[in-house]
Amino acid sequence: MTINDVKQMTTNDKLYYAKYNRSKYNYNDILDELKNCTVCPRNCYANRFTSNLGYCKSDASFNIASIFAHHGEEPVISGEKGICNIFFTHCNLQCTYCQNYQISRNNENLSQHNLELSEVIDKIVSILNTGCNSVGFVSPSHFVPQVKIIINELHKLGRYPTIVYNTNSYDKVDTLKQLEGLVDVYLADFKYINSDIAEKYSDAYNYPEIASMAIKEMYRQKGSSLIINEKKQAESGLIIRHLILPCNIENSIDILKYIAEEISTTVYTSLMSQYYPTINVRNDSALNRTLNAGEYKRVVDAMHEFSFHNGWVQELKSQSYYLPDFGNEKPF
Ligand code: SF4
Repeated sequence: MTINDVKQMTTNDKLYYAKYNRSKYNYNDILDELKNCTVCPRNCYANRFTSNLGYCKSDASFNIASIFAHHGEEPVISGEKGICNIFFTHCNLQCTYCQNYQISRNNENLSQHNLELSEVIDKIVSILNTGCNSVGFVSPSHFVPQVKIIINELHKLGRYPTIVYNTNSYDKVDTLKQLEGLVDVYLADFKYINSDIAEKYSDAYNYPEIASMAIKEMYRQKGSSLIINEKKQAESGLIIRHLILPCNIENSIDILKYIAEEISTTVYTSLMSQYYPTINVRNDSALNRTLNAGEYKRVVDAMHEFSFHNGWVQELKSQSYYLPDFGNEKPF
């Protein structure tokens, strides 16, 4: 039986199926992946049950900085009630300009936010009970085993929200294959097509190659269709996002060209102009300012030139609106 079959069931049938399914699930198998971790392309082989952690400095627990109903995503993702976004700590990329740097830095000083699984589930369910019907995992690539457990715990409770995998796309194809049937919507960044820029800004020379393969795998799973329900919320599909960086316009145009030539011009794309310099890039002459109108126009023109049919182009305004503060209960 597939997840889609279960979603068609009545509430009573879902609860019966959930009870039957509870005894079948063994989390030890999933957590064993973290004993010799190759979850993401860094392939550290770290034992995340010890203090000898890998590149992402993440252990085997549920390191979550924040869970809240977020209204700032694309309209089809946020919907009227917002999406219940789960922000993991640390990251398998270390982007110099990261807007979420308060929670994404892989240094020992970053405070751990280890939650019990039951706390995570209680918080998600309390948000779902407000009428929100989707759950988003934000920067989850280094926490995929925990993501699978959270989804399965929700299913055990008879809850089948739309699952959104909101990723930097530094993901392994094999890991993404494990998510087939569990993830409904892939919200995938495509950051760089140039390896030198990827190395300079994100410490990942092979990002273009890895992200290209990852996005092609997401496209294999979902294709170009974005299924939108009567509440105008996405229920299934792929959206490729690109954040335009100032002084890096050729990278943006080359990414659009690559998507058009190698993936599809009918895939949904989201062009983002919201880049805002954080304190960490004040000495970077390229990244210490916002995008200007001329730069943005060049990328938007290219998007039209390559004949993309579907998606969103963010307005060039209010960049500071998107800069979160994870010191607050609601960071955005
Ligand atoms: S998830 Fe973390 S420990 Fe595992 S391979 Fe990636 S960076 Fe290394």
